Amino acid sequence: ARIIPHGDIVVIGLGRFGGAVAAELAKLGHDVLGVDENAELVQSWSDRLTHVVQADCTSSETLRRLGIAEFSHAVVAIGTDLEASVLTVLALSELGVPDIWAKALGPKHGRILERTGAHHVVYPEAEMGERVAHLVVGGKMMDFMEFDDGFAIGKTRAPPEAIGKTLTECALRRKHGVTVVGVKRPREEFTNATPDTLIQAGDLLIVSGPTDKVEAFARIT
Ligand code: ADP
Repeated sequence: ARIIPHGDIVVIGLGRFGGAVAAELAKLGHDVLGVDENAELVQSWSDRLTHVVQADCTSSETLRRLGIAEFSHAVVAIGTDLEASVLTVLALSELGVPDIWAKALGPKHGRILERTGAHHVVYPEAEMGERVAHLVVGGKMMDFMEFDDGFAIGKTRAPPEAIGKTLTECALRRKHGVTVVGVKRPREEFTNATPDTLIQAGDLLIVSGPTDKVEAFARIT
């Protein structure tokens, strides 16, 4: 039996979504075990992840042999093969992996994954689609993320009325109902906003607030 050192996180399915998750985790400095049943794909990831293994993950016996019971997090990034996705989540759940994330293609798939033992279900296509809709009609919004409760964060340019003033002086919260949380000068990094932050032409802002307020704010920039 192959023994794999106890990594932190296992990503199962190294397709477009799983590959992106694994690469980002590796970039953040985590030990990542990538597993896929496709040998070529596994080979192509071998120099980018701490460990890679070619295996069919639908059986808990296989997962146990790979040492996956010891992992603290698992991401199941199998999408199109619904049966494989569900069986893999079930196998991980049977092994007692404490934090199981799974990608679902739609709400029905998601419900099954939740009942099968996934602790977190994500809907990459649906979520990205929603976000793009906001960006398309948001016009000047440069990036946008809405949370469940109608609260959003957006990236916008600075509105003309704020230029040359500090955040206290331009009172964007009172006038527009949004809070500026971060500011970025051209060629500099984002910094946390403070009441004394001076807004200059060309600045980018990260603003938070109720979704409609954030959207209205982007329109005046
Ligand atoms: P994406 O749209 O993110 O590329 P796919 O569903 O097309 O997602 O790809 C999922 C990946 O999962 C594929 O690389 C496939 O080889 C892998 N995969 C599918 N079934 C299994 C399985 N039973 N065990 C391990 N990997 C699997």
